Amino acid sequence: MSTHSEAQGHAAHGDHHDGGHEHGHGHSHGLVDESIKRSRDGIRAVTVALIVLGLTAAAQIAVFVMSGSVALLADLIHNIGDAATAIPLGIAFALRSARAERHAGLFVVLAIFVSACVAAYEAVARLIHPQAVDHLGILAAAGVVGFVGNWTAALIRTRAGKRLDSPALIADGAHARADAYVSLAVVASAAVVALGLRIADPLIGLAITLVILRITYDSWRTVRAGA
Ligand SMILES: [Zn+2]
Repeated sequence: MSTHSEAQGHAAHGDHHDGGHEHGHGHSHGLVDESIKRSRDGIRAVTVALIVLGLTAAAQIAVFVMSGSVALLADLIHNIGDAATAIPLGIAFALRSARAERHAGLFVVLAIFVSACVAAYEAVARLIHPQAVDHLGILAAAGVVGFVGNWTAALIRTRAGKRLDSPALIADGAHARADAYVSLAVVASAAVVALGLRIADPLIGLAITLVILRITYDSWRTVRAGA
């Protein structure tokens, strides 16, 4: 779901939203937009994008275990967070309850927040006590996998969004495209560490974590607003 459609939702309810909310990463984790759920085709697009992001995150976890890169840790937490957006929707379908969906959404946002805190802690710990990052070639490849996975999810969402005339799905596509570039930061980390500057890895990890925390704050507001 996008902050764009969130703003529209507020407008529809006659609320006013704050203007500083529109720019930036431009989406939220936690919930799938109401308009997307009304179509079978939209749900299929959400599901396929979920599978792509899930596979992307799984591949990145394997490389994280090998390389110990904090930049990759932050990126894969972000990707899992985006994939987890679909969990509340699944629960809503299983239980036929909007309340259950909202509770699941709050839980997902909380889980992403805790994960981001773990990534931030790891990054700061590595800044204080630098550690070697191994398997730089595979690490760079994991960043490319993140780029390709997010780019594919972006194509799936954008195409379905245009077909269904769904601004929310198109916004989710734009979000995945932005995330594809975030994953390239992992490639940059591998390159700079290869040049001998290993502090680049925790620094980039910290930067990605800040992006996640910002999005998580927006998501929390979205889920809370859905009361
Ligand atoms: Zn994201």
